[in-house]
Amino acid sequence: MADIILRKNEDKRIKKGHLWVFSNEISKVIGEPLNGDIVDVYDYQNNFIAKGFYNKHSLISVRIISKQKEFDLRELFEQRIISAYNFRKLIYPNRNSFRLVFSESDLLPGLIIDKYNDTYVLQVYSVGMERKIDIIIEILDKKLKAQNIFSKNDEYFRQLEGLSVEDKIYKGEMRQEIISDGEVNYKIDFKSAHKTGFYFDQCDNRLFVSKFCKDKDVLDCFCNAGGFGLNAAKQGAKSVTFVDSSKKEIENAEFNFKLNNFSCKSKFVEADVFDFLQNCLLTNEKYDVIIVDPPAFAKNKKSLPAAIKGYEKLNRLAMSVLNDNGILFSSSCSYHLKEEVFISIINNAANKLKKKAQLFYFNNASLDHPFLPSMEETVYLKFAGVRILN
Ligand code: SAH
Repeated sequence: MADIILRKNEDKRIKKGHLWVFSNEISKVIGEPLNGDIVDVYDYQNNFIAKGFYNKHSLISVRIISKQKEFDLRELFEQRIISAYNFRKLIYPNRNSFRLVFSESDLLPGLIIDKYNDTYVLQVYSVGMERKIDIIIEILDKKLKAQNIFSKNDEYFRQLEGLSVEDKIYKGEMRQEIISDGEVNYKIDFKSAHKTGFYFDQCDNRLFVSKFCKDKDVLDCFCNAGGFGLNAAKQGAKSVTFVDSSKKEIENAEFNFKLNNFSCKSKFVEADVFDFLQNCLLTNEKYDVIIVDPPAFAKNKKSLPAAIKGYEKLNRLAMSVLNDNGILFSSSCSYHLKEEVFISIINNAANKLKKKAQLFYFNNASLDHPFLPSMEETVYLKFAGVRILN
């Protein structure tokens, strides 16, 4: 058992509920903890604060697990997974597919679990969690009756933690699933899909957007599996145009459209969204509802200025192909772009067109991606509903 002694004042953030100890906040390591060991964390006056997973290879040296000195890890994990599960069934009683565990937000540091029917897809981003993964697998298997369990990790986050870049099948096999978001069905091909297989974080926002789409011409930019446009079709859109630069994703969106037997006018366009919107400007093609949900333009702090320019151009182009009284739904999943800056980008875009942006809705990710008020790192998605006034 090793002890981590923090520098003076570096205990404050942790005592307020933040769950990471950064390497520069440690004054002393007593003992020789291995990566992934559970260590005790003390303030500079040697008062016990918490227990957490240690990792000397990461800037995040300790990921707090509990403020209790004594606990049984298996019991703790089980209680947290079942509590996370019960909450998801409370908010989505009719769904069998959702984000089951959202890492620190569900007090399971460095662990994401997305549930696709009886298939559970993991992302493991802490050494401590990786070393204890058998406990997690057993809980999913025994308590939640998982049929298939495998990981689909993002290289970048594994590397930050000094973890080998690999995916594993823990139970069953990696086969396709047909899931429902409560309204629309999607085919999930885990081998080719992004993330764990589906963007669950936009489910609530898709449903919200769909309320504005009846009898409207809808444009779903960066459509991926088609979530926004498909929900719009479900609610009676007049037409839906799907745009994505990936051939595979456009084919997938079209497959999902047919899978749901939708019959409104539809177009599936494989194109760069910037080029597509420029072209709409030239040909005077306009839409009543436009969704822009691009990939993260700012992967780190350094790329933020260029990303801001990109978001502004994108929002300006989208606004300029909106019909009068049209609505823009704009999103950013760049963690480094803060909410105020995102909103000011939308405002600047409208100003450049000599129009006024009226913000009538703001949200973050879906309810199955809760955040900890003590940890701003648990919030990344921004989503705005905007009317453009002349
Ligand atoms: N709106 C989607 C998620 C979008 S993910 C949903 O609700 O699930 C971002 C998508 O943007 C990816 O599918 C990617 O292929 C696509 N993409 C990235 N850059 C692009 C570009 N310049 N033009 C068009 N599509 C792009």
